Amino acid sequence: MSETLSADVVILGGGHVGMTLAIGLAREGVASIVVDSSDPATQTAQGFDGRASAISTASWNLYTHLGMAGELAEKGCPIASIAVTDAMKPGRIDFTPDPGDGSLGRMFANRDLRLVMYGVAAREDLITFLPNAHVATRERGDHGVSVTLTDGRRLTGRLLVGAEGRQSPTRDEAGFTPARWSYHHRAIIAGLTHERPHDNVAWEIFYPAGPFALLPLLDDAEGRHRSALVWTVAEHDAAGVLALPDAAFTAEVARRMGDIFGPIALATARSSYVLNFHHTAKVVQQRLVLVGDAAHGMHPIAGQGLNLGLRDVAALIEVLTDGMRLGLDPGDAQVLNRYERWRALDGFMVSGATDVLTRLFGVPGRLPSAVRRLGMAGVQRSPTLKRFFMNEARGMSGKLPALLQA
Ligand SMILES: Cc1cc2nc3c(=O)[nH]c(=O)nc-3n(C[C@H](O)[C@H](O)[C@H](O)COP(=O)(O)OP(=O)(O)OC[C@H]3O[C@@H](n4cnc5c(N)ncnc54)[C@H](O)[C@@H]3O)c2cc1C
Repeated sequence: MSETLSADVVILGGGHVGMTLAIGLAREGVASIVVDSSDPATQTAQGFDGRASAISTASWNLYTHLGMAGELAEKGCPIASIAVTDAMKPGRIDFTPDPGDGSLGRMFANRDLRLVMYGVAAREDLITFLPNAHVATRERGDHGVSVTLTDGRRLTGRLLVGAEGRQSPTRDEAGFTPARWSYHHRAIIAGLTHERPHDNVAWEIFYPAGPFALLPLLDDAEGRHRSALVWTVAEHDAAGVLALPDAAFTAEVARRMGDIFGPIALATARSSYVLNFHHTAKVVQQRLVLVGDAAHGMHPIAGQGLNLGLRDVAALIEVLTDGMRLGLDPGDAQVLNRYERWRALDGFMVSGATDVLTRLFGVPGRLPSAVRRLGMAGVQRSPTLKRFFMNEARGMSGKLPALLQA
């Protein structure tokens, strides 16, 4: 007879968002089963995901509360300042917090985030992690949810969470209809070493063909200064850029970043990600909730996708545990509706603002560039506006769940 496993919550997708949710629930005494179709050994293999993520202050607070920050602390590179320029022309904005106000976040290799997350999750008795597992059917009813895996195992619970990222089959099967469009852009990712230190500055350089970001990383073991490159190119140029010989690729990168770091060299293999947008305002149905990229996917230029997903996590943990303390079922419609209302504005604002930013800087020509730089000069001169944008980057605005507060 095939095995049946039961828990309060069944989470489909154990990526950065789904697994962090499981850890947070476990810390509150809520048991979950996490199903992931991939193998953690593959996900954490060197070179599988060469990306680095900007982790905001609010997300760092979450990692601190969930017991992940201790192991992560020494692996992160603080972002002391963000420089925004229109194609390296004069008139950039420097977002530099006042002394004592704290950094604008920290950069982590995705591999380090995953390794620490899996390690912390493995120590939680209330998490049953099923990697390399494939869902055959999902059912939701008045009294509970049930998932059958292709190997015959049956999972039962009271709430189903869709956390399988951009291609979430749970979202699609349930009939959610996200707004979606393609940027016809591809992000080319690579690690760089450079002669001069980055001074913990994250550079966002906007070109009409797409944004180009240099994100500070810790020096490597040999003391070489390092940054992560996210270079957005038009989809039809991506194959050519990826196929360039290393020296030609480095020369193209150097041409776009000027001489800010001195001579540069390629430190890792290149990889690429297709960029598109999707957003659904509805994120709950009967005994079902969407979190992370399953609900919203955006252009990576502002480094907000994972941070937004972690804000989903903190809000969902708070509404579920508040509801359960009052004796409510975690799949209770009132509980889920509170989550949807809480997340709607933040999700819409961050996704929308990122989209507007990408489009605004994508308009070619000298006049649009002059208008943009006039606007940027206005922001550069306004401490109030700068403080507003820095608070947004830190993820510390709006009504914050307790897990996002210091
Ligand atoms: C180039 C680039 C740079 C980025 N930089 C940043 C940044 O600096 N800061 C930031 O905040 N965000 C950044 N992001 C966004 C961030 O990577 C995502 O928002 C984040 O990974 C979303 O996490 P997730 O867990 O929702 O989805 P994912 O990370 O996609 O995880 C989904 C999980 O579900 C599993 N899965 C998939 N399908 C199934 C299935 N059918 N059944 C079971 N399991 C399944 C997968 O194996 C995976 O483990 C960047 C994105 C890109 C593309």
